[in-house]
Formats: sequence, structure tokens, C-alpha cells
Amino acid sequence: MTLLSPGHVGRFAPSPTGPLHAGSLLAALGSWMYARRHGGRWLLRMEDLDPPREPPGAAENQLATLARLGLHADGPVLWQSRRHAAYAEALARLQAEGLAFPCACSRADLAATAGIHRGCVVPPPQDPRTGSVRLRVDDRPIAFDDEVHGRIVQRLASSVGDVVLRRADGLWAYQLACVVDDAFQGVTHIVRGADLLDSTPRQIALQRALGLPTPHYLHLPLRRDARGRKLSKSEGAAAIDGQNPLELLRAAWLALGQDPAHWPGAATPEAALAAAVPAFDPSRIPPDPVGGAIDPARHCDAQHSSELADKG
Ligand SMILES: [Zn+2]
Repeated sequence: MTLLSPGHVGRFAPSPTGPLHAGSLLAALGSWMYARRHGGRWLLRMEDLDPPREPPGAAENQLATLARLGLHADGPVLWQSRRHAAYAEALARLQAEGLAFPCACSRADLAATAGIHRGCVVPPPQDPRTGSVRLRVDDRPIAFDDEVHGRIVQRLASSVGDVVLRRADGLWAYQLACVVDDAFQGVTHIVRGADLLDSTPRQIALQRALGLPTPHYLHLPLRRDARGRKLSKSEGAAAIDGQNPLELLRAAWLALGQDPAHWPGAATPEAALAAAVPAFDPSRIPPDPVGGAIDPARHCDAQHSSELADKG
């Protein structure tokens, strides 16, 4: 039985900071399965907004890997590097409405508040093209119901502070680009790694400020090493582009908590994926990683966590 949901749109949105690894494959397969199980569309977005961190050819390499895995998008890839005008328009609107403001505070300026910005502590820059731009937040609780993790509540002012929308170096912040593009692509259901659970209340605040709808959220378990630490690239997130696609897909299926008996024997990734869709059960997705089902050295969430460390 397909869980039909009219107008369902899912997406996968990697940052091209290197080859896809098994952690990113989990998000790719999880979002693909979830969309297909609901009879929905699945879109791709390349979050290529930080050129210094993007090796030449990495985006094309990721897209080739996805194609080899049989994960084909329903439409053209959206490249964030071509979306500057849309982000600028959103930022201008927030500033015109008094919801965003220029900021010249440095990390040192914010040391007294542990780096959390709650109103500028230095005078705003005279030149609006310099410094960062932030979304002003308040401390009313922002709540949402994650399909795996349950109710999540966060008070932004006390926990994360005013949200950077455009960085002091001129680059667009991840939160702004993600929110603008999820709305532009008509995404209704976001399935992604739990390293982004903490970003979701910020994104909801931004959706509300921009008058955009809030999608449904499902955050997938994080890959951890044997000692329970989040894996990072330096600790061995191997690229998957040279590995057997059918074995990779089966490992990701198991990591999503799915029934091993329902992973089909098939000659091609496309055939395996299509045959597995009816058996995909989102309620089996665990909040924590499935122990022992996969080689932890091959799985991690380095891409988005390093992105967040930079883009806050
Ligand atoms: Zn400031």
C-alpha cells in the first residue's frame, strides 16, 4: 500500500565539499524512499554556496554517484550558486520589515554571552555591504513534531541568539538559503540527518518571518563510531563512489531500521529500489543508529556538521 499524500515533495540537498559518504547516502536513500512511499516527487539541490570548501568536480562527482545508485531526481538539479538574487530579495524584504539588521559584532565582542548574539553590542556598520546581517529572534518557544524524534521545543533567543543570514565574508548563511530554496522547490517533507535537528527551529522562525509554509520533518539517526562519538571526515568517512551500489543501498536500508528480509535481490539499483518501496516503513526508523548493522567507519555526517560549524 502506498501512503498517498497529494503534492508530496521531498528532497536531498548535499554540500559538495567532497565525495558522498555513507552518512550522506543514508539521507539520500531515506528521503528518496520516504517520498516514493508517499507517491511523491524527489528533488535534488546542490548546496554549493561556499566555494573555498568545494573541490573542483565534487558536485558532479556526487551527482554521478547518486545516478549510479539509481537515485534519480524528478526534475533538474537546483544549484544554490545560481540563486543569489533570490536570497538577496528575501534578505531585503526582512530588512525592510525590520526583522533583520546589520551587525558588526565579532566573536570577541560576544565572548561575554558565550558567542550568542542577543542584540548588537557594537555600533552597526555604516556601510550596509560590510558586516553580517542577522534575523532578530525572541524567546517564545518554537515547537515542531519530528516524525522520529517527537516534539522538539527551542527558545531561540536564549539558546542560539539572532540568526546569521548573510555572513561577514559576504557568503549566504546556510539557514537562509535552505529555507528560501525549500519553499522555492515546493518541498513539503524534509528527511535529513539529525545533525540538522538543532537547525530546524531557526529555519521555522525564518519561514514565519518570510511568510513561508513549514514542511513536515523527519530527522534520520546520526552515524557514530564505536565509542558513541559523531564521526567526522578525519576519522574515516570513506568515499563510496568506488563501492558496489547494491551493497551500499542494502547497508543504508538496514541503517534506516528496515526489515532485512524485505531488501530484494535485484540486478540493478533501480530495480532493487523500486521493489523495496512498498516495504519501506518510516515507523521503523530509529532515533539512534542501528548498532552493528553497518561498518561505522564508513558512515558519518561530516558534511553537514562541518557546514554548520562554519555557517552557524
Ligand atoms: Zn551584532
